[in-house]
Amino acid sequence: MSEIREVVIIGSGPAGYTAALYTARAQLRPLLFGSSIFVGGSLTTTTEVENFPGFPEGVDGPVLMENMRAQAEKFGAEMIDDDIVEVDLTGDIKLLTDSSGTVHRAKTVIIATGSGYRKLGLPNEDELSGRGVSWCATCDGFFFRDRDIVVVGGGDTAMEEATFLTRFARSVTVVHRRSTLRASQVMQNRAFADDKISFAFDSEIAEIKDQDGRLAAVVLRDVLTGATRDLDVTGLFIAIGHAPRTELFKGQLDLDEQGYLAVDAPSTRTNLPGVFAAGDVVDHTYRQAITAAASGCQAALDAERHLAALN
Ligand code: FAD
Repeated sequence: MSEIREVVIIGSGPAGYTAALYTARAQLRPLLFGSSIFVGGSLTTTTEVENFPGFPEGVDGPVLMENMRAQAEKFGAEMIDDDIVEVDLTGDIKLLTDSSGTVHRAKTVIIATGSGYRKLGLPNEDELSGRGVSWCATCDGFFFRDRDIVVVGGGDTAMEEATFLTRFARSVTVVHRRSTLRASQVMQNRAFADDKISFAFDSEIAEIKDQDGRLAAVVLRDVLTGATRDLDVTGLFIAIGHAPRTELFKGQLDLDEQGYLAVDAPSTRTNLPGVFAAGDVVDHTYRQAITAAASGCQAALDAERHLAALN
């Protein structure tokens, strides 16, 4: 039987590493499971991060994550690059099974499994991430000053991204598969009123073209006629939704109507005592590295207080 840990953390993004740093410094010897194939979380899929405080020259996403990990390890956090594939969070002692079948036991669990962006499913989409293709206008809009760009999607997020991007871009074309938008009327009105925004309705991205490893154009396909046309753009923002990584917890933890873990905000407490959640797996509003790190800190402090109350 494995020892009973004070804290086990699931997830190796800014939320998980920050929770590890704080719980390690509180002498709780955290054990963190950081995935078998995606160690370091979402920021490892980008290049320059310019909005994480403390780096006036910007910082490479993977480097930032390696530094966060090293900082937590320095204080004794233990990291295992493996997935948790099964959990039983209902008892006083939480049971977490890794991919080798080993069951780990813990008094508290911090869930920081993040959320994935929904993708178009085109072959070179991932390859061009950070090289013209983006899922986050707040993160990357600044790199597209005076450029022509495309935003894909018809919901509130797509309208918000498109409107925000007009601060930088020369033109923004919103590409949407249907003839009407799903976004709220107020968001639609704002987008329609913006001179820089035009719309390609009943259209989808059929192909992403690159030149020298960077996005150079997209091919639009009319979904009604099948006709295609090239659009020369150097930015493609995909805003077709998010998929919080909550599958593992369904049936045990409460989810909100959008599938994110529900917490007793402003705390990070879930519906089960001793189980806390932080970062993008909870947050469908801000979704930034700094907000994920901040809530990882909150989860660590909540777990620490929970443990103190047990003793
Ligand atoms: P994540 O970073 O998503 O990390 C979660 C980790 O948990 C992943 O590694 C995942 O594999 C792991 N995991 C999931 N399930 C399990 C399991 N069962 N077992 C073990 N591990 C598991 N934000 C900014 O502030 N600035 C930027 O410039 C910026 N640029 C971005 C660029 C890109 C391309 C992307 C995708 C995002 C960007 N973001 C940026 C957003 C930022 O990366 C996220 O908001 C942040 O990483 C969320 O942190 P997190 O810890 O909640 O989750």
